[in-house]
Amino acid sequence: MSDDTTTAEETADEAPGVGAASDAFAVLGDETRVAILEALVDARRADPEQRALTFSELRDRTGVADSGRFNYHLGKLRGRFVEETDDGYVLTYAGREVVGAILGGTYDTDVELDPEPLGDTCTRCDAELVARFDGGDLDVGCENDHTILRTTVPPGAATDRSMRELLALATRTTYARIELLVGGICHECAGWVEREIVAAPDDADIDYTFRTSCERCGAFTRSSAGVVVLRDQRFVAFCDDHGIDVANRLPWTLPFLTDGETVRTGEDPPRYRVRVEVDDERLDLTLDGQGAVVASERTTT
Ligand SMILES: [Zn+2]
Ligand SMILES: [Zn+2]
Repeated sequence: MSDDTTTAEETADEAPGVGAASDAFAVLGDETRVAILEALVDARRADPEQRALTFSELRDRTGVADSGRFNYHLGKLRGRFVEETDDGYVLTYAGREVVGAILGGTYDTDVELDPEPLGDTCTRCDAELVARFDGGDLDVGCENDHTILRTTVPPGAATDRSMRELLALATRTTYARIELLVGGICHECAGWVEREIVAAPDDADIDYTFRTSCERCGAFTRSSAGVVVLRDQRFVAFCDDHGIDVANRLPWTLPFLTDGETVRTGEDPPRYRVRVEVDDERLDLTLDGQGAVVASERTTT
């Protein structure tokens, strides 16, 4: 799956939320305020059920001796990132999101792992696949420029994972993104997503691609059409019956998804067929023009 975020073609005046976002980032441009958010996360980690901190607890943990100065910075966060409850101060939704991005290393682009040969063969030639990770971008491909997987992973995830563990994580997040996208939901911003099965370019060695674009943020993805079945219950059950645990298999070890087996079976309305064959059994899944599975059939071959 290739994952590429493009810029929405809107001006700042037209784009909803841009003014609010620049205000929000301005508020966060101060070490004390970030320290306050982190102290609230530490409190939640220590005791998720009793995560609220009183004013003085929060000030102690942030290490600001001057009460007036601390109150000034806390005031900047209140209402947007932090709220006061009967038990004390807690993070708001926006506060949890921004701390999650900080901990996930979203703003840390220096994280890099050494390229690692995987011992698996490219699905499009005989070369070995190599995984590369740099600043949040994860690529699996071969020396002949065949990209089998291109996705993003929060850089923080790479600080305590091997390349193999990072690939397992990327596989799961990719499958989860596919599930959202097939359902018409953007994995970046939760906006509405347009999705469509379209003919692949002439130089591609697959026939059809699943293409999505977000109406709100412009996030764009493109992958072989077969990926839309990865989270389909009928596909998962079929694989399970044949001893294949889809969630724990790297995508390129499921060759029936990338070998160009998607064919067009209907014009109006458009229908496409993804065929999966394992041992002596076949599963045919019929997709509509937006990539939703509308019918399935199992036959013994
Ligand atoms: Zn290759
Ligand atoms: Zn979006």
